[in-house]
Amino acid sequence: MVDDLSGFEWNADEWQQEWTISVGRAYVCKKCGTMLMVTKGGVGVLEPKCCGLDMQPVESPDEEIR
Ligand SMILES: [Zn+2]
Repeated sequence: MVDDLSGFEWNADEWQQEWTISVGRAYVCKKCGTMLMVTKGGVGVLEPKCCGLDMQPVESPDEEIR
């Protein structure tokens, strides 16, 4: 970690957005069924789109596949 972020304050909303990019989180396109799996975490907001629509987050990818 770079210790150069002093003064950078996290609030609850930012933490929540951070969690949306957790490794293992999956998104699915309701229209064509394409699934997207996050394999690397990152900072920012992930808003995957497919077929011109927002892809929907899948809470439990394993159960969804079964
Ligand atoms: Zn699609």
